[in-house]
Amino acid sequence: MSEECCSKTENSLNTNCPLNGAKGKRVQTITLKSLLTPKALETLDAESNYFFCDSIDCPVVYFNDRGQTFILVDLKIPVFQKDQGFQVPVCYCFDWKRDRISQEIQETNNSTAESSIRAHIQAGRCGCEVNNPQGSCCLANIRKEVKKLS
Ligand SMILES: [Zn+2]
Repeated sequence: MSEECCSKTENSLNTNCPLNGAKGKRVQTITLKSLLTPKALETLDAESNYFFCDSIDCPVVYFNDRGQTFILVDLKIPVFQKDQGFQVPVCYCFDWKRDRISQEIQETNNSTAESSIRAHIQAGRCGCEVNNPQGSCCLANIRKEVKKLS
C-alpha cells in the first residue's frame, strides 16, 4: 500500500453503519475472511477498513468505509448480538452457547464459563479474531449473559 499525502485519521473515515447509523467497531479483515460465506468472501475489498455493527435490530454485520455491507446471511455462523436464540454461542472459541450457560446455572446455581474461558485465554488458546464475529474477546458478553440467565 502506498503512503497517502494527506493521512486519514480515524475520524475522517465513515465509521457509522450505513443502515442504522450506529457507530461501528473496527475489525481485522482476517475476521471477515474466516467467517464470511464463500460467495460473500468473493466480494471482500481487502484494501478497505471494515467495521462491525453490534445493534440487535440491524441486519448489517460488517460494513466498510466505501459503503459496502455484509448482512447476517453472508456469515457462516449466527451473530450473538443479533440473534437471541439459545443455540447461539456467547463464547465462540470454547462453545459456550446460551443453553449451555443456562443449563449449568440451573443445575449448579453457578457459572464456570468466565473462569474456564479465562484459563484458556491465559494458556494462549483463545482465537476470537477468527472465531467471534465481533473479532474480539467475548468475556464482556459472557458476564452480561450470565447475569441475564442467573
Ligand atoms: Zn447497523
